[in-house]
Amino acid sequence: MLEATGGALVVQELDLAAPGPGEVRVRLHASGVCHSDLNAIDGTAETRCPAVLGHEGAGVVEEVGPGVVEPAVGTHVVLSWLPACGRCEECRRDLSHLCTAAWVAMGTGGLMDGTSRLSRDGEPVYHYSFLSSFAQRAVVPAACCVTIPDDVPFDIAALVGCAIATGTGAVWRTAGVRPGDRVAVIGCGGVGMSALLGAVAVGADPIVAVDISSQKLDLALELGATHAVAWAGDAPQTAAVIVDVSGGGVDYAFEATGRPEAAVAAFESTRPRGAAVLIGIPRADAVLELPALSIPRMERRVLGSIYGSSRPERDFPALLELYRRGRLPLDRLIGMRLPLEAAQEGFDLLRSGTTQRVILETT
Ligand SMILES: [Zn+2]
Ligand SMILES: [Zn+2]
Repeated sequence: MLEATGGALVVQELDLAAPGPGEVRVRLHASGVCHSDLNAIDGTAETRCPAVLGHEGAGVVEEVGPGVVEPAVGTHVVLSWLPACGRCEECRRDLSHLCTAAWVAMGTGGLMDGTSRLSRDGEPVYHYSFLSSFAQRAVVPAACCVTIPDDVPFDIAALVGCAIATGTGAVWRTAGVRPGDRVAVIGCGGVGMSALLGAVAVGADPIVAVDISSQKLDLALELGATHAVAWAGDAPQTAAVIVDVSGGGVDYAFEATGRPEAAVAAFESTRPRGAAVLIGIPRADAVLELPALSIPRMERRVLGSIYGSSRPERDFPALLELYRRGRLPLDRLIGMRLPLEAAQEGFDLLRSGTTQRVILETT
């Protein structure tokens, strides 16, 4: 639990109400430590506190609320942190990842009706992104549950629920990268490395990986990057190296850190008609300064990508099937497994930028 923004995570017993209409209770088994949770802790993106964090989880449904037909008790599920309403203008336009109702409800720290199922001594404790998966159990909207086969490991499944869908989706859905397209990925954490795997899977070439960590660059090369570039300290220098090694700039530069200077480097590393695809979440007050002339003159573009523009019910099972067939080495994204009690240590590791995804196990 995060008591207040800027504080440490503490492990506490909390009360969890029974699932209401359209909700289910999930026994969680694994939960990934994601940069968005860190943003909530640091205040980069403020969340309503006290809150139970975690939004990248998988487990088994153990109770369903009134009116819930699917999923049934005993179903293995990956949790999506964006339960689309299916009725708003964005949902009608087939943009369920931008569902207005879900984004409004998320901001309340409650479930879809704006109220919380978590409490301590009768006082509400808030949900994070509907899930609060750093826990043994969670009550979530049934619409957050995506059914998975019983033999999929929970830790791999958990990562599909955020980092992997976000990274691969940015490449496949937001950008629509085609074979032979030139790609750069700036920031090789869980999301960036997933974008890299997505680019490898569609036959992008070259694929330039950029990071500050030499361990992450080594892994990027093992996973199919054609070039590894150490962040050069500023945007122009880094972009110049990417332009050089890609033979004149990339078609798509994916930014997965949320840092404005990395977004500028992504933009400046694109060739004519190229696009910077911004995935990382910046501070709310961040502003980008871009060379404006090159936008019309070179037809350069900036594309935003949230949750990989994905549709969880369609994309999560497909990702897990590709993993099971050995065509997406998703297990390589896991750096370490820790017990729930070591959540704070997990975030220290994430901050250090030295390890791949940390999984908190809640079995
Ligand atoms: Zn996440
Ligand atoms: Zn909607």
